[in-house]
Amino acid sequence: MAIQQADYGDLLLEFINTYRDSKGKPTYLNQINEIIAYRKKSIIINFSDLFNFNEQLATQIINNPKEIFPILENKIYDYIIEKDPSFQEEIKKIHLRITNVPRLIELRKIRSSDAGKLITIEGILVKSTPVKERLSRSVFKHINPDCMQDFVWPPEGEFDEIIELPTTCPVCGKAGQFKLIEDRSEFIDWQKAVIQERPEEIPPGQLPRQLEVVFEDDLVDSARPGDRVKIVGILEIKKDSQIKRGSKAIFDFYLKVNSIEISQKVLDEVKISEEDEKKIRELSRDPWIREKIISSIAPSIYGHWEIKEAIALALFGGVPKIMEDGTRVRGDIHVLIIGDPGTAKSQILQFAARVAPRAVYTTGKGSTAAGLTATVTRDKNTGDYYLEAGALVLADGGVAVIDEIDKMREEDRVAIHEAMEQQTVSIAKAGIVAKLNARATVVAAGNPKLGRYIAERGIAENINLPPTILSRFDLIFILIDKPGVEDQLLASHILNVHAGKTKSTEIIDVDLLKKYIAYARKNVFPKLSDEAKSLLQDFFVEMRKKSSESPDSPIIITPRQLEALIRISEAYARMALKNEVTREDAERAINIMRIFLENVGLD
Ligand code: ADP
Ligand code: ZN
Ligand code: MG
Repeated sequence: MAIQQADYGDLLLEFINTYRDSKGKPTYLNQINEIIAYRKKSIIINFSDLFNFNEQLATQIINNPKEIFPILENKIYDYIIEKDPSFQEEIKKIHLRITNVPRLIELRKIRSSDAGKLITIEGILVKSTPVKERLSRSVFKHINPDCMQDFVWPPEGEFDEIIELPTTCPVCGKAGQFKLIEDRSEFIDWQKAVIQERPEEIPPGQLPRQLEVVFEDDLVDSARPGDRVKIVGILEIKKDSQIKRGSKAIFDFYLKVNSIEISQKVLDEVKISEEDEKKIRELSRDPWIREKIISSIAPSIYGHWEIKEAIALALFGGVPKIMEDGTRVRGDIHVLIIGDPGTAKSQILQFAARVAPRAVYTTGKGSTAAGLTATVTRDKNTGDYYLEAGALVLADGGVAVIDEIDKMREEDRVAIHEAMEQQTVSIAKAGIVAKLNARATVVAAGNPKLGRYIAERGIAENINLPPTILSRFDLIFILIDKPGVEDQLLASHILNVHAGKTKSTEIIDVDLLKKYIAYARKNVFPKLSDEAKSLLQDFFVEMRKKSSESPDSPIIITPRQLEALIRISEAYARMALKNEVTREDAERAINIMRIFLENVGLD
């Protein structure tokens, strides 16, 4: 039996009134009561609940949203007013928000056949405008001495982005000028943003796809640049370019957001099966697991053991801590490689980006206008200002891999200090004031200032980075290309790689390694044992003493290095999936810290 459009409203009310969740709670009736009590503007309904109740209603909602939403929303509004007439003095409209819509469409697969439908998209919010006011109902006056009448425009429905004025006055029928009466018109909060494919979804060598989205009313500012989001909305075709003779018949899409979920769980993006977990657990019991992991980092690159070790540490990371006063100490281990050209720095970095559960690869110059941190950009076509997230914000919760970091831009040089330590990016520009999360590990490489690394000079003289930035790296390694005894081995390694002859059974393949890292970061949070604590403490005191004896050394030993030692010890424990940082982990941390300090000329 066919259901009439008008009946859908009654069906929805029946659903709201009769629905009980698995515990017997009337979820949606409770929401209605909350809407009334707290003057909320939206009811949020899970699509699958609705689908189980009535397939036809659910299907209408996703296939025919533009017709059905006003009917349903009016019905809910009337129902609320009936329960509490005073509600209408404060709130004029209730939004019906649907979550969990099964029609998930990849950004690069959106087609015109999806227009007008309710769809789900996933991606990163890369930039958003400040909140503006959109005219939702306007009153005009006809400026003509014979008329001077006011009228509501458009007579029904709402505006899109462009207001099209009537050609003649709807009251007197004559043409003329019309003036907006602002205090009799209604406005709605409005914000535009751009969603981009997640970096790990972009096919190699392709540019990321983007889609403009529009948030309105209680949805504005519900997500910030850098957030990974799942958005349900109606796909619309942009009408803001007026059709003129000779204008292009090509239009862009945008999504009018209906509901949004922000994904908190970084590591759920890597799917780990039960079988994977068994393999991971088994691997972790190998007494040589750490060596195995390190050998599996960029196996086609010969040598550079300490650098691979540092990369492994960065990938596993330490445990972030929230202090009693609310301050946060990062768990991320930032690593910098400075080295002569052609020493495989870029290769190693690319590998790191490939195996990290979440990574953004970029160069110091940045691949977007937002660079490494964030910036305010202006859209050439619309003139809109946007707050745009840079690499460290997009890598929030993961690894920012930055090649040629010495070439970074001036504004990033300033902002990167805060990003690497407090792990936030603050911006105040063109009327936009914001603070974004940048809880990312930095794995970076840079070339020597003078073309080649000059060992006789200090590190600060060799690289175009200020000491304040250098001091934020937990580990720094220098790669000097010196011809010599190892060339035979290097050559035969490279030749073997090219001949496809390095398949060693000792190496964990990229796929499994990625899962291993994700598993460790998600499930293992090691704590320092007393023995490890006292070892680290003694070593720190010794380092401080040495550093005070050589006051012009490039790295000044501060409590930062002690924090670095703790993080590094935790990462070693994590590599073996241990919940305790033992003596062995602390010893390894001290060892690599020593190598780093000798390497940069402090010993
Ligand atoms: P960089 O970024 O340090 O200038 P690249 O990563 O671009 O250097 O490396 C240049 C080339 O030399 C790459 O093809 C790399 O594989 C090769 N190469 C350099 N060092 C090694 C090494 N130790 N083992 C194997 N290949 C190497
Ligand atoms: Zn008139
Ligand atoms: Mg390079």
